[in-house]
Amino acid sequence: MTTVKIANLDGKPEIFHSIQGEGKNIGQPSVFIRTSLCNLHCIWCDTDYTWNWEKTRFAHVKDTDPTYTKYKMDELIISLTLEEIYEEVFKSGCKNIVLTGGEPMMQLDELSELMQFFNTKATDYFFEIETNGTLVPDATFEGLIHQYNVSPKLANSNNPKKLREKPEAYNYFSANEKAVFKFVISAENDLTEVLEICETYKIPNRKVYLMPEGTNPEALQKKQQWLIEICKKHQFNYTDRLHVHIYGDKRGV
Ligand code: SF4
Repeated sequence: MTTVKIANLDGKPEIFHSIQGEGKNIGQPSVFIRTSLCNLHCIWCDTDYTWNWEKTRFAHVKDTDPTYTKYKMDELIISLTLEEIYEEVFKSGCKNIVLTGGEPMMQLDELSELMQFFNTKATDYFFEIETNGTLVPDATFEGLIHQYNVSPKLANSNNPKKLREKPEAYNYFSANEKAVFKFVISAENDLTEVLEICETYKIPNRKVYLMPEGTNPEALQKKQQWLIEICKKHQFNYTDRLHVHIYGDKRGV
């Protein structure tokens, strides 16, 4: 029986009804399905409970916090059947589904089956996926998904370039009309890298969203003004992190 690995939030699968806080569909009511596992290890990751397992060597900004410890993998993953996920989502009445993570494309086949299962229940589900853009989907997945929110990671993520920049995947998403790109910007000099990636992979500026890095409203506000000026100059889209303004750094909202 097919199951999907979902992040465990206080003993419950992290599936929640909220609003999309970032990118093209910002403000849209959505149900988030937070899958576990990731193939990258961003130093500032705010969902590190999906990958920063005990006995791994990955660095994280919270390492200096004496209360921060790495996670026990078997305690942080809940495997749910397609029916169980559907039941959880159905309660909300919401038809916009956000597959997020972690890196959800690590469970590509399972998520294809999940979307197919949902489509047997109703024909008007809209599926978007939040991905780090390192994995290329297959034809089945491509035929089911409606929107890719691709978030390439920059040097500020602390991932080696050969892990975070996969030309085959970047070219795939650049040419795909369903894909938009979202870059997390920590400092003004991150822009040099964004421009290089856009030029190398011919990503049209209209498909690009720049988002300030930060897990609290103060950190976001500090970066807003200069980032908006950069967007104006280069014809990129600006995106906020609406959920951080509303809920702060909380899970499951
Ligand atoms: S790719 Fe996303 S989930 Fe994975 S480590 Fe980076 S920020 Fe976290």
